[in-house]
Amino acid sequence: MPGSLKTQAIVLRSIRYGEADRVLHLYTPERGRLSAIAKGVRRTKSRFGGRLEPFFRLDMVLYEPRPPRSDLLTVTSAATVAGHPRLREDARALDGAARACEAVARVFDDGDPHAGVFHLLANELALLDGDATKATRANALAFRLKLLLAAGFAPQLSACASCGEREHLVGFSGAAGGVVCSACEAGAFALSEAAHSFMVEALGRPLADAPEAEPRALAQAERAILETLEHHAHVRLRPVGSGAR
Ligand SMILES: [Zn+2]
Repeated sequence: MPGSLKTQAIVLRSIRYGEADRVLHLYTPERGRLSAIAKGVRRTKSRFGGRLEPFFRLDMVLYEPRPPRSDLLTVTSAATVAGHPRLREDARALDGAARACEAVARVFDDGDPHAGVFHLLANELALLDGDATKATRANALAFRLKLLLAAGFAPQLSACASCGEREHLVGFSGAAGGVVCSACEAGAFALSEAAHSFMVEALGRPLADAPEAEPRALAQAERAILETLEHHAHVRLRPVGSGAR
């Protein structure tokens, strides 16, 4: 059908609009972030049921007028692929899911598709839904590192980001784009070996096997991630939080 877009999507945000409608912020594999309006969804007899809520993974049909008249597509149909009901029953899993969706929504603009980001977010939600004890600070940081990688902002970790030196990597510089050596550390902060290996391993392993590390190493890894996002994506994310285990 002309003007209709069939796609999987993950609901990042769902905002009340007018009397009975909702505006959804979605992330899709082929189109990236987009917004859609679901009409009449807040009426009791709505055919959409309760599935247009954050963290739902859906099979959707969206209507897009040609030529486009606004940035909003219209939801024609939505079927649940995964509703992730269990993660809503655990405060930490819920918080982890909310921060993951928020990070995806903030790091990417509309019309900037990265199929890897869709699959990363789908994996994270499935992981938190399957086992709420996975909602650790290490998991949240591993997710953000993989998000940086999928977005093309992965920090340089194997050699000094300024001069290429492979030894004496003692600091991290968001401006330089990764770890730096002792000769280049001006403007960098100290990065311990434990924080460095946490980042290397978190990037190299599946999300479900995210490495553990001491709180101090995690704090340094978190600072490295936040500075990378600020310098390269111009986004300032909330810290993953002391609420996370
Ligand atoms: Zn150097």
